[in-house]
Amino acid sequence: MSPLKPSAKALVPFVSVDHMMKLIHHIGAEEMLRGIADYIEADFKRWELFDKTPRVASHSEKGVIELMPTSDGDVYGFKYVNGHPSNTADGLQTVTAFGLLADVATGYPVLLSEMTLLTALRTAATSAFVARLLAPKGAHVMAMIGNGAQSEFQSLAMKAIAGIDEVRLYDIDPKATAKCAANLARHGLKVVICDTAQEAMLGAQIITTCTADKQYATILTDNMVGAGVHINAIGGDCPGKTELAPAILHRAEIFVEYPEQTRIEGEIQQLEATHPVTEIWQVATGQAAGRRDDKQITLFDSVGFAIEDFSALRFVRDQLDSTGLFHALDLLADPDDPRDLFGMLQRAKP
Ligand code: NAD
Repeated sequence: MSPLKPSAKALVPFVSVDHMMKLIHHIGAEEMLRGIADYIEADFKRWELFDKTPRVASHSEKGVIELMPTSDGDVYGFKYVNGHPSNTADGLQTVTAFGLLADVATGYPVLLSEMTLLTALRTAATSAFVARLLAPKGAHVMAMIGNGAQSEFQSLAMKAIAGIDEVRLYDIDPKATAKCAANLARHGLKVVICDTAQEAMLGAQIITTCTADKQYATILTDNMVGAGVHINAIGGDCPGKTELAPAILHRAEIFVEYPEQTRIEGEIQQLEATHPVTEIWQVATGQAAGRRDDKQITLFDSVGFAIEDFSALRFVRDQLDSTGLFHALDLLADPDDPRDLFGMLQRAKP
C-alpha cells in the first residue's frame, strides 16, 4: 500500500509512538531534526499559498486543548495538542499531541500520527532554523532555561542546525536539570549545570526560555539580557502565559510565526496590538531583514504554528515507503458501493 494516496481499501497509515521512536533512531535524532527543519524552511518559503488561521483553543482552569489546521491546496493537515502545566505533578506530560494529513482532492486521510515526540522535534527544528537566521555570527553557547520535556530536543536541534556546542542548564527543579544533563551526555555538547538563570546566561549568545506555568511569569528580567543576544522564547504560548518582562520586548526586534496567532498567545500579548513585528517567513524568503548588527537583541516569540506541524507530518509521510514504520489503520468506513454504507453494515452482522 502506498501511504501517499488513499488506498483502494482506504486503510490509513498510522505512525504509533513506538514507530515514531523507531523512525527517530533509524534516521538519527539530529539528522531528523535537520530534515524537519528543511521541510519547515521549504514550507515557510511558500507561506502565502497556505490556508492560515489562529489555532482554535478551548481553555479550562488547568490548561488548553487546541486544534491547528492548515492546507497547501493539495494536502490538508491538523494537529490536536494540549498544554497542561500542572500535569507533571500527576505524572502526566504538559504537552501531548497527534495529527493527520489528508488528500484535499478526495478528503481521505493519508496519514495519522502520534505528535507528542514529533511536536518536540518540530518545535526544536523551528527554533534552530530561526536561530540560524537571527543569532549573532559565531554563536555557540546557549542558555537553556526550563529543563523539561522539550529541553533536550531544543539543545540537540541548536547543535545540529545552529552551531551550538555548549548548553548551560537551569530549572527551578534541580531534578529536571539533572535529567536533562544526563540525557544530553554523550551527544557532543558541553553541558553546564547552573544554579540560577543569570548563571546559565553567562557567555550565552542564544537564550532559550522553555518553562511551563499557566500565568504571566518573569523568567527573564530586563537587567538580565545584554546586547547582541538571540532569545528563543518557547514557553509563552497561551493567553495569560508569558515568560519575559515587557521591557525586554521594547529593546528587542521581535520575530514571529503568524502575527494573528502570536498577538493572542505570545510574549507580544503584553504589547500594543500595533507594535511592529517581523514574520519569519519573510526573513526566510529575503523579503525582510533579519539581524541588522551585533548589538541588536533578536527575539523569536515562538508559539508554534500549524504549518510547522504540517511540515513535520510531511517529513514523516515521506519516510513511510522506505521504512515501513506504520500500521495500516482501518479508520474509514469505505463500502465497495460507496452509496451502500448500510449494506456493508448488514453484511458484517455476526
Ligand atoms: P515541562 O512541564 O516538561 O517542562 C517545563 C519546565 O519548566 C519544568 O521542568 C519546570 O520545573 C520548569 N520551570 C517552571 N518555572 C520555571 C522558572 N521560573 N524558571 C526555570 N524553570 C522553570 O514542559 P515542556 O513540554 O518542556 O514545555 C515547556 C513549555 O513550552 C510549555 O509552556 C509548553 O506549552 C511550551 N511549548 C511551546 C511550543 C511552541 O511551539 N512554542 C511547543 C511545545 C511546548
